[in-house]
Amino acid sequence: VLGRILECVRRATEDFRGGELLATGVAAPGPLDPATGFVMSPPNLPGWDNVPLADIISDAVGVKVSVNNDANLAGLAEFRFGAGSGAQNLIYLTVSTGVGGGIICDGRLLSGAHGLAGEPGHMTVDPGGIPCACGNVGCLETLASGTALARRAQTRLQSGEASLLSERAERGALTAEDVGIAAHSGDRLALQVVAEGMHFLGIGVLNLIHLFDPDLVVIGGGVTNLGPLLFDPVQQWVHAHAMTQVQRLVPIVPASLGDRVGLMGAVAWALQCVD
Ligand SMILES: [Zn+2]
Repeated sequence: VLGRILECVRRATEDFRGGELLATGVAAPGPLDPATGFVMSPPNLPGWDNVPLADIISDAVGVKVSVNNDANLAGLAEFRFGAGSGAQNLIYLTVSTGVGGGIICDGRLLSGAHGLAGEPGHMTVDPGGIPCACGNVGCLETLASGTALARRAQTRLQSGEASLLSERAERGALTAEDVGIAAHSGDRLALQVVAEGMHFLGIGVLNLIHLFDPDLVVIGGGVTNLGPLLFDPVQQWVHAHAMTQVQRLVPIVPASLGDRVGLMGAVAWALQCVD
């Protein structure tokens, strides 16, 4: 992986002849330490234990390299270049296989004491809920992620409930996309599974609004393909339960940078680190 990263950096700098390379940014899966550029032990990158990623790339390219968590940087990208342009305080959530996020506080990406701030997916929203891979229980990620929606639908099908998904489930494990398609076709089970998940997403979003008082909340990730089935219940929960009128009216909008969000986040982080 490192060899391929260095090869991509080399090609990019070659293509850029005539300009000056000032800095390099890297969006990597966490946990990691942005201060040292060490990637600790990401669950999806087996063998990456305490890798000095920033130093390795910096030795190869000869400029400062700044590393940060990919979801944090996606938030920074939406703030600098995307749906949150012009805001000073922004909450970004990505809802896909997991739930990640990034928090922009007074115009800066919040890193925290150990570089571990901005993990909304691991706040408990259901104390009676199931254990999460992170060691906590009832995490938002275990209830509202795409993985959670698919798992919940699968469990209900196994108990014999009728659904458009029954036939699909016989051909292999369900995905969140399958659940979304069935929900959009009006399937009762799929609609209920989505509604349950988005109820918890609403609770999570409102907790974040109360904590950080954002100008807006931006939600990205594959599960946002649910469209109004995601955004309406979240909006309704916030509207019904926020402390003040101004918090009730915080806009909750889709992300706008699509698949380029990680790349744009790495650029934004490199820029912020050389500022
Ligand atoms: Zn968790």
